[in-house]
Amino acid sequence: MSTYIILLGPPGAGKGTQAEILAQTTKLSHISSGDLFRENIQNQTELGRLAKSYMDKGELVSDDLTIAMIRDRLSRADCKDGAILDGFPRTPIQADELEQMLAEFGGQVDAVPYVTAAESILIERTGGRWSCRAQGHIYHKKFSPPKQEGICDIDGSELFQRDDDKEETVAKRLRVYFDRTMPLVEYYRKRGKLIEINGVQPVEQVTKELLTALKK
Ligand code: ADP
Ligand code: ADP
Repeated sequence: MSTYIILLGPPGAGKGTQAEILAQTTKLSHISSGDLFRENIQNQTELGRLAKSYMDKGELVSDDLTIAMIRDRLSRADCKDGAILDGFPRTPIQADELEQMLAEFGGQVDAVPYVTAAESILIERTGGRWSCRAQGHIYHKKFSPPKQEGICDIDGSELFQRDDDKEETVAKRLRVYFDRTMPLVEYYRKRGKLIEINGVQPVEQVTKELLTALKK
């Protein structure tokens, strides 16, 4: 049976950072919906063109486009044992569709770590985030700086600041998160899958809490 873990939480909580580490520990693929959209924008695909208009405004891309993209990604060979999902699902419709999709793939959602932090921290984290062009590795100018400024330690590619990490757009994304994604906390709590994780600790401590909770 395949294993699917969903990382849930507001923008800047540390989902991507923990997903990267968890993927290494579990050998499962790290599937980030935001990274997939950004790749499509970079490659100038039709999906990228459509997604960009929503992303620039801090809104969610439509459920249909998002679900189709994730279905395609999860169907690939590197997800046959499961995946760490980061940024998907973000609406109850996406969560319902995911359940059906995983049933088809012979799996189910195993656990949903919910990483939280206060709003002031989310703003400070997104404000200083740097992402790597090649593979989306994540840095922070103050909390986890690269060895050499502007260069990814892992693959040597350029680091950039996401357009949607500007303060006004982050404020919008937080509102969208509270309106549209927060209902998933109850959705997964009711199903007995939710694991609450304190995101306001050093990265290593968050990982430790996460791994201990997942073992149970
Ligand atoms: P964060 O790191 O803040 O959680 P992401 O990189 O996951 O941000 O997402 C960036 C943007 O990509 C979102 O603001 C949204 O426009 C789009 N996006 C990502 N995942 C989804 C999704 N599951 N549904 C709709 N839009 C999404
Ligand atoms: P998300 O995917 O939830 O939007 P990220 O993993 O991209 O969040 O983290 C947002 C920013 O905060 C990044 O710059 C990252 O380096 C930094 N960060 C992540 N986890 C922590 C932590 N535990 N303590 C301090 N900074 C962190």
